[in-house]
Amino acid sequence: MTATPPLVVSRNPADPTEIVAQVQAAGAFGAADAVERARAAQPGWLRGGAAARSAALGSIAAAIESAADELAALAVREVGKPLAEARAEVARTAAIWRYYAQAPYEPAGAVHETAAGAGLLLTRRRPHGVAGLITPWNFPFAIPSWKAAPALAAGNAVVLKPAPEATACALRLAEIVQQALPERVFTVVPGGAAEGGAVVSAADAVSFTGSTEAGQTVARAAVARGIPVQAEMGGLNAAIVLPDADIAGAAAHLAAAIAGFAGQKCTATSRVIAVGAAADPLREALAEALRAIPAADPADPATVCGPLISERAREQVSGAWAGLSLLAGGTAHDGPGWYAAPTLAEKVPADHRLLREEVFGPVAALLTADDLDDAVRLTNSVPYGLVTSVHTADLDAALHGLDDLDTGMIRINAPSTGVDFHLPFGGTKASSHGPREQGRAALEFYTSSRTYTLSPAKTM
Ligand code: NAD
Repeated sequence: MTATPPLVVSRNPADPTEIVAQVQAAGAFGAADAVERARAAQPGWLRGGAAARSAALGSIAAAIESAADELAALAVREVGKPLAEARAEVARTAAIWRYYAQAPYEPAGAVHETAAGAGLLLTRRRPHGVAGLITPWNFPFAIPSWKAAPALAAGNAVVLKPAPEATACALRLAEIVQQALPERVFTVVPGGAAEGGAVVSAADAVSFTGSTEAGQTVARAAVARGIPVQAEMGGLNAAIVLPDADIAGAAAHLAAAIAGFAGQKCTATSRVIAVGAAADPLREALAEALRAIPAADPADPATVCGPLISERAREQVSGAWAGLSLLAGGTAHDGPGWYAAPTLAEKVPADHRLLREEVFGPVAALLTADDLDDAVRLTNSVPYGLVTSVHTADLDAALHGLDDLDTGMIRINAPSTGVDFHLPFGGTKASSHGPREQGRAALEFYTSSRTYTLSPAKTM
């Protein structure tokens, strides 16, 4: 007899006495069963044709727009996302579905001349079958959507295993998505690592976003099965500020990238590298900008830095700054919620945790470099390589001086956060495994290419 799967419980990080979701986990058996049922539904979805898939995705975009206020409020309650950011995430989610609603009409391949003789060569992209999606809690609508929309557009069925902390958001998204789709083409399996592992064991392709440790486990299991896998994982992102930068503007961007949503984004800035004469003015401007951002109620539309996701997360964050020389922050208050103040540390030893591991909180280290080459070397000195922001008015530095940066995304005079969804997204080293997400790259990931050779039926 199989044991009853445990309950999945999510709590409001601003008021942990409030339970937002409490549902039965799918269990490993339930997750595998969901994949089998999705597999049975997928051929009908594909055969329904491009117009039906396009219309379905377009209607999901419209339904998300209609429910925008309710969805944003749910993200505030369940993951503590500040209201302004939650609204922006919901708007982005609708835009993602609308963008991929065009994809079914896009060319599915190419035509080539044969190398010799008569005939025609064609390529045609075909869906894998069932895409298993495993997602984190920090973008509870956008990340499941930027995986599901291209997977569905390409004719796959989808089984989503959301983070336990974002269960209510995933189930609400599923209600909206399912209204536009045939039964079983999109299923959510609530649960944790056991359900995630079961999805990896049964799906035809896997797209994961989350921590590096879990992502590497997922990638290994998928590679062992020989199925396509992509894993978007942690970051330890640097911002380089050159002496010619607009220091006030750079400080404002950095403060938002460090403190926004309490630093709980893979693209958050956690290392600030001031080059040469930028060091003194930036030190003052950034400390002042961070001190002006309180950790506050996420339901207030003015809040930039809300609570952390859990008590454990707050302990990890306050442990990371313990004993360091601080220019701002350094307090974790015991409200009803799990809050930590935006914090800036200086003179951080090179082997300190803050410079080696992703802390996932509103904390950054201020470092100095002699010149741009030194700053690039420092940026590359960590095991991650997701995104780097560079602040300068020097076009040559921006275009040529950064050639050796080992990060997947580079943002000039912009915060490290807030990357556009219609371009490839991903990093290097421990930040990413496999092909890129988002934009047209995602459509390639969710399909495989077939090559056709068409020779004349009759030789002339
Ligand atoms: P997490 O790794 O704890 O969980 C992510 C998902 O994986 C959850 O659904 C979880 O239940 C599942 N999971 C955990 N262990 C598993 C296993 N062994 N097998 C299968 N599934 C498993 O991450 P989190 O705390 O939800 O999210 C925060 C992390 O996500 C941070 O490291 C952050 O950098 C990362 N993140 C990365 C990106 C990116 O695109 N690079 C975007 C957002 C978040």
